[in-house]
Amino acid sequence: MNKHWLHADKDPMGRAIHDYYTTGRAERLRVFSSQFDEDELPVGELFRTFQQMPLLEQTALRLAKGRILDVGAGSGCHSLALRDMQKEALAIDISPWSVEVMQKRGVNAHLANVFDERFTGQFDTILMLMNGSGIIGKLKNMPAFLTRAKQLLAPGGCVLMDSSDLRYLYEDEDGSFLIDLAADYYGEVDFQMQYGKVKGEPFDWLYIDSDTLSAYAAQYGFRVEKLQEGEHYDYLARLSVK
Ligand code: SAH
Repeated sequence: MNKHWLHADKDPMGRAIHDYYTTGRAERLRVFSSQFDEDELPVGELFRTFQQMPLLEQTALRLAKGRILDVGAGSGCHSLALRDMQKEALAIDISPWSVEVMQKRGVNAHLANVFDERFTGQFDTILMLMNGSGIIGKLKNMPAFLTRAKQLLAPGGCVLMDSSDLRYLYEDEDGSFLIDLAADYYGEVDFQMQYGKVKGEPFDWLYIDSDTLSAYAAQYGFRVEKLQEGEHYDYLARLSVK
């Protein structure tokens, strides 16, 4: 598993965030995947305000308390919304360009990878939003992730994470499920981004259904509560140490 941060020359999303922050606009942020057709990530949405956020994210921000860690914070939109709510957050990201923008926006932001043991601290709430489970990458990284979560959580703390069940992509109209059970878990996706000439390395991104999340979490001493469901197979989960 990658425990490093991105090279500044291979940070397309960070470059897009930086352009948008400095000029108010950005070129197309293109998203490639071996599983899906080419897509585009609207850069402006990374700068969403509390009012523009989906309900699941608003709920997570309302529930966040104490010392808060915003993991994979991007432009810092959640950390800034928390500040407006008089809550204090530390933001981390592996994107050097994003961290620079967050610091310019007044966010307490560090260039750090959540899987890197050199990053330490004790947090009451760990936030992972915008399919935050994606950062875990693959199901096989769940034990390493849960171990890190335990290290970073203060007693009584919790992880608030959103994800989606991708089964709808494989469901037939009659509801039958066309999945090869011998294949990799259906929520394991690979992505690669490109912004202008800046192309990032491919990376793994995990979408996880709540039953699978609960099963893994239970094995490592966590309790999972599904707090809220979104409009499209997405949900917000709270993970706390049993
Ligand atoms: N949470 C933000 C950004 C989501 S995009 C929002 O909701 O708008 C995902 C972010 O996670 C990217 O900025 C990416 O650089 C960061 N990231 C990916 N892997 C990471 C890791 N292992 N540790 C910390 N940040 C990571």
